[in-house]
Amino acid sequence: MKTVDLPVVSSAASLKTSFQQMVKQGRTAVVERQGNAFRIHTARDIVRASAKGLFTLGELRTGRPLDSIEVNDLARHGARLSVPTDSSSAYESILREMGDQDYGLLTSTDRSAIIVTRSEGLGFPLEASPAYCYCSRCGDSVPEGTTRCPKCHSPIDCITAEQ
Ligand SMILES: [Zn+2]
Repeated sequence: MKTVDLPVVSSAASLKTSFQQMVKQGRTAVVERQGNAFRIHTARDIVRASAKGLFTLGELRTGRPLDSIEVNDLARHGARLSVPTDSSSAYESILREMGDQDYGLLTSTDRSAIIVTRSEGLGFPLEASPAYCYCSRCGDSVPEGTTRCPKCHSPIDCITAEQ
């Protein structure tokens, strides 16, 4: 289990704006908010969608629903809010009960969300700046200027930085 803070953007936000928020915060995922519903999107999916010509976050179909962790569940499992990592196993049980979710939403504001991940291994990759280019087939990140994936020789999708 790990807690990670991610940028929050609205469904109407452009893919480029969403990407810029990830760059700014040094994260490889973003949380989309539509009313009280949340979805989590990876940098790779956003870059791919942008390369396909999609424009806003709300147009993406690849996001995963991000369910809120209920206060009742916190209390029932004895999960602490102040130092969540002190009650890792309680949070892991809650995510299991929520339907084996990889991620759960702990708290959010208009700009930022704190999520918990089922394992530490799921959390660490989120705490890195996103790559601007990914292989269109295997999804590996590749350096900018790469024309073919070094691994599978497929075309590369890139997003350009906002001016
Ligand atoms: Zn590849």
